[in-house]
Amino acid sequence: MSKPDIKLDKEYKLFIGGEFVEAENGETLASYCPADGELLAHIAQASQKDVDKAVEAAWEGFREYKKTSRYERAAILNKIADVIDENRDHLAMVESLDNGKPIRETRAVDIPLASEHFRYFAGAILAEEGSANAIDENTLSIVLREPLGVVGQIIPWNFPFLMAAWKLSPALAAGDAVVMKPSSTTSLSLMELMKLIKDIVPKGVINIVTGSGSKSGQYLLDHKNLSKLAFTGSTEVGYKIADAAAKNLIPATLELGGKSANIFFDDCDLDLAIDGLAMGILFNQGQVCCAGSRVFVQEGIYDEFVKRAVEKFSQIKVGLPWEEDTQIGAQVNRSQTEKVLGYIDLAKKEGAQIAIGGEKACGNGTEKGYFTMPTLITQVKNDMTVAREEIFGPVAVVIPFKEEADVVAMANDSEYGLGGAVWTRNINRALRVARAIETGRMWVNTYNQLPAGAPFGGYKKSGIGRENHKMMLDAYSQVKNIFINTSEKPSGLY
Ligand code: NAD
Repeated sequence: MSKPDIKLDKEYKLFIGGEFVEAENGETLASYCPADGELLAHIAQASQKDVDKAVEAAWEGFREYKKTSRYERAAILNKIADVIDENRDHLAMVESLDNGKPIRETRAVDIPLASEHFRYFAGAILAEEGSANAIDENTLSIVLREPLGVVGQIIPWNFPFLMAAWKLSPALAAGDAVVMKPSSTTSLSLMELMKLIKDIVPKGVINIVTGSGSKSGQYLLDHKNLSKLAFTGSTEVGYKIADAAAKNLIPATLELGGKSANIFFDDCDLDLAIDGLAMGILFNQGQVCCAGSRVFVQEGIYDEFVKRAVEKFSQIKVGLPWEEDTQIGAQVNRSQTEKVLGYIDLAKKEGAQIAIGGEKACGNGTEKGYFTMPTLITQVKNDMTVAREEIFGPVAVVIPFKEEADVVAMANDSEYGLGGAVWTRNINRALRVARAIETGRMWVNTYNQLPAGAPFGGYKKSGIGRENHKMMLDAYSQVKNIFINTSEKPSGLY
């Protein structure tokens, strides 16, 4: 199939106060397709003044938006979800071209999951109720939730559209206004969405400042008039977010990196297990914060598991993202590909073996882009760099284990705690291991499923807070307590 000719703007402006506006200094950045290096569009680079304008517009938007009823807000969220569903094919292709993801994933996962999150939070806000409590005969306590104000949101490039939905939906449901900065590498799908929902969202409630992290992102972080910061990205930048939040004494929720353990016991169903291994590490080219990148296999099935895994990886089609049968698309850019290949070299130097893959892909039209072959590294020890650091590519390290206690200890020997899975037919063992692993999400006999309604977030250096669940409404609002004395007698104390 030849590359689809989809309609994109040559230049995407900032979205501030309900309008598309140029960056005040006219600076732009180029956005390329990682599958063939072709220029897709330019995006505006927001200056300090632009960010100030966006925050101001957000406060103006907030002053009206905070008066809306939850019924009105739910209706807005549902309309956004409808528009996403109606434009699924277009948005999916924009995402595939801009990020390199296979179209079969963007069409079936990224875009529909995004609309699901808007619908979920529309429902969640409708179900929210304040409470009143009679403290004693003469005293009532009323508990109300109020929005925080203006939230600065910064999101990464690995799921550009979905991460925007994860952040926008709870904020809008709670009644906040936002200033969002997408990754400079992948801003196009969000800007396309803003064109579609411009007239659905009240002016100033969503503002988008595109640009680099070190400039536009840092201006937003350092802004003195935000009520909260919300971030998804690397642990390294997560520290900067926490720092900025501390300086301004505002809350921050952080969704950060991971090095999750995918654990296979002797008694697992091997067909499901090999499928689960692939789901865990090949989905989205392995560029998933909760990727099952540390694979622990019990000794009794180790040889058979590796043999079948190699067979499976050898059948995976690495190809152009817009082709329907492509299973692995392009890594997001050159530096990411070099980083992944660098880790593979390091694994060899550390004494590990490449069971399959380990190089750039070629063939299937991939010559001009950044593609990595699905890679399995064996002879790995849990203290090697490749078993400790996030590689963020289709690269899994395989480590054998003997006993349940051994694998729990190895899995927990990590600074991260975001995802993970256990594969076994023994329900007691599944639950025991799931409880013993220090992680925010543990799958049992499945991997990488991220529906709305199941809380997701990290232990340890993988983050603070839980997204995708109505509990996120707490993180986007604050509690007002109205304390009422109904007695008309003086207290008698003075
Ligand atoms: P990144 O931390 O490099 O960038 C994330 C965002 O922060 C981008 O928009 C970037 O422009 C911005 N940024 C960078 N420096 C900044 C600064 N000084 N000030 C303000 N903003 C700045 O991450 P990435 O490379 O885009 O994404 C990959 C990382 O994201 C991985 O570590 C992955 O694990 C993590 N991630 C986590 C989750 C989760 O839910 N826990 C989900 C997706 C991705």
